[in-house]
Amino acid sequence: MATDYDAPRKTEEEIKEDSIEELKTRRNDQNSGRVDEDEVEAAESFELPGADLSHEELTVRVLPRQSDEFTCAGCFLVRHRSQLAETRNGQEYCFDCAG
Ligand SMILES: [Zn+2]
Repeated sequence: MATDYDAPRKTEEEIKEDSIEELKTRRNDQNSGRVDEDEVEAAESFELPGADLSHEELTVRVLPRQSDEFTCAGCFLVRHRSQLAETRNGQEYCFDCAG
């Protein structure tokens, strides 16, 4: 039995009503399933070939800096600590920008 009801035992009539409700629900589920497929198709039609996905790349770049990385004050690139050449006035510079 997969019923979670803590309620007192049901009369036969209530059980019959329940199964009718269950059938209705099942039918609704099938309907909603069909609607979902339509929505998926609609969503897919929005994805035009060659769509601009640059914002996704941007999201990757905006990821929080790792503790073993720094942002170069010269070229504004996130560099690995091993690329840190010098720190000037609290600003960090990579080997390309130092000197
Ligand atoms: Zn740099």
